[in-house]
Amino acid sequence: MNASVITIGDELLIGQTIDTNSAFIAQEFNKVGIWVKRRVAVGDIAEDIETALDEESRQAQIIVLTGGLGPTADDITKPLLNKYFGGRMVENPNVARHIEYLFHEVYRRPGLISERNKKQAEVPDVATVLHNARGSAPGMWFEKNVNNRNVIFVSLPGVPHEMKGLLIDEVIPRLQQHLRFPSILHRTVVTAGMGESMVAERLLGFEAALPRHIKLAYLPSYGMVKLRLTGQGHHENTLAGEIDLLFNQLTATLEDIVVSTTDEPIEKVIGHLLLQQQKTLATAESCTGGNIAHWITRVPGSSAYYNGSIISYSNTIKELLLQVPATTLRTQGAVSSETVEAMVKGALRQLGTDYAVATSGIAGPDGGTPQKPVGTIWIAAGNQERIVTKLLQLRFDRDQNIEITTMQALLLLRKVILGQEESNVMNADRT
Ligand code: AMP
Ligand code: MG
Repeated sequence: MNASVITIGDELLIGQTIDTNSAFIAQEFNKVGIWVKRRVAVGDIAEDIETALDEESRQAQIIVLTGGLGPTADDITKPLLNKYFGGRMVENPNVARHIEYLFHEVYRRPGLISERNKKQAEVPDVATVLHNARGSAPGMWFEKNVNNRNVIFVSLPGVPHEMKGLLIDEVIPRLQQHLRFPSILHRTVVTAGMGESMVAERLLGFEAALPRHIKLAYLPSYGMVKLRLTGQGHHENTLAGEIDLLFNQLTATLEDIVVSTTDEPIEKVIGHLLLQQQKTLATAESCTGGNIAHWITRVPGSSAYYNGSIISYSNTIKELLLQVPATTLRTQGAVSSETVEAMVKGALRQLGTDYAVATSGIAGPDGGTPQKPVGTIWIAAGNQERIVTKLLQLRFDRDQNIEITTMQALLLLRKVILGQEESNVMNADRT
C-alpha cells in the first residue's frame, strides 16, 4: 500500500516553518503498514497543487494533503479541491455547529466569529467531512478513479496538533476499514553507552539469521541507540510469536546496555524508576539552563517525584542558592568536577530530595580556553551516600551540546539510581 504526502504552504518552501507534518504522517502510516513512497512540498499556488495531485495520484493509492485550509485568503486548498473533484460548495451543518461551539465554549469569544470563520463550514459536496475536534477547519476525504484504480485523497489542516488528531482519530481508522492491510508489528529496545557501529558488530549473527519479513532498524541519537524490530505478515498471531522470540534474543544479546524495552525516552525511564522507589529528584543546572527540568516535566505526572530546579547560571547564584564554596569556584573553576559535586549537594539540601543532578560547562560557541575548550562539560548525579561526576568532551554547536548534556545527565542519574558503575569521561566521538 503506497501513500504520498503533499504539504502545502509558502512558509514550508521558504524554510520559515519546518515540515513536521509529513514526518508524523510517515511514522503513523509506517506503524499500520502504509508505505509513504513520496513526500512533496508545494506553495499556495493553484497550478502547483494541481500538478502535485495529478502526479502523486499516478504513484500512490492514498494521497494525504496538509495545509492551506485556514480562513485567510492565502489558503486556497479547499476551493481548489472543490474544483479538482468537480464539486459544489455547500454549508455542512455539523461543521457550522462545531465552529459555533468552539467560539462559545472553547475560546469563549463568541463575538469574534467572523464571516471568514463561518465560511469554514462550507465544504465540497463531493467530500466526506472528517471531524476536526481541535479546530475549525474540517478534514476532507475524496475518492477518484485514476488509471482504473480508486485513489483516496485526504485533505487535513496544516496546524500540527489538529492534523495529528484527525490522522489518528479519523483517517487511519477509516483507511483500515476501506483497505486490506497486512499486519505490522514493532518492538523497540532502547540502549545507551555504546555507539551504533559497535552495537551492529555485536548483532552481526542476529541480523544474518533474521527471516526476510522481519527487519531491524537502528535509530541513533546523542549517546543512545534505539533498535526496532518490524515484522510484516498475514497472520497476526504467528507474527507476534516470531517477533517476541526474536525480541527476547535481541535484548538478551544487548543486556548490559539496555535502558528500556518499550519505546520510551530517558525522562520516562527515570520517572518509572523514581516512582518505583518512591524517591524524589531535584536539578541544579548551569549550562543546560533548565533543559533537564524541561525534559523531566514534559512527562505527565512528574510532580510525584520531581521537586524543582535551581538554574544557577552565574557563580553568584551557585554560591548563594547552592552553597558552592567560593574557594571551589576560585581554585577549580565553575566548570569542574568539584563544582558539579557541590551543586548536587546543594540541590539535595536546598530542594530536599533523595537525588539530584547538576551540570556546568562551556556550551559554546564562545567562552572556551585552551585548558577548557568549548564542549567541556561536567555533569554529576547523586544522593546523600554517593555522588558520581563525569566529564563530557563535546564539540558540535550550542544547541546540540545542551541536548547531549541533558541526555547524558539523565543516563548518569539512571546508573546512580540503579547502583551501577560509570566510566567518568565521554568524548564527542562516542556520541
Ligand atoms: P494552514 O493550514 O496552511 O493555514 O497552516 C496553519 C499553520 O500550520 C501554519 O502556522 C503553518 O506554518 C503550520 N503548518 C502548515 N503546514 C505544516 C507542516 N507541513 N508542518 C508543520 N507545520 C505546518
Ligand atoms: Mg497556509
